[in-house]
Amino acid sequence: MALMITDECINCDVCEPECPNDAIYQGPQIYEIDPNKCTECVGHFDEPQCQQVCPVDCIPVNPDFQESREALMDKYKRLMKENSDKKSEKLD
Ligand code: SF4
Ligand code: SF4
Repeated sequence: MALMITDECINCDVCEPECPNDAIYQGPQIYEIDPNKCTECVGHFDEPQCQQVCPVDCIPVNPDFQESREALMDKYKRLMKENSDKKSEKLD
């Protein structure tokens, strides 16, 4: 599952730098999570890092993105491959 940020977000900026997948970004009103990039931190950490640091507990599971741990691991591998492809493009 991906996580999502609710409208209780106070725009404190704390979660954004903690995300290992660069899935968190500033939206028009509050911070948002790109579900295509959020692996619930699978592949990087045991616990979702954004949930750990959010002072108002406004980062629940996104009910529209129910994924198994295997699917999250596949997403993690895809993201890692995309990142390494981007790095090699820069070196070319
Ligand atoms: S759970 Fe992990 S990957 Fe997903 S948004 Fe939070 S910090 Fe990023
Ligand atoms: S840590 Fe919580 S309150 Fe702060 S920007 Fe992130 S989602 Fe919003």
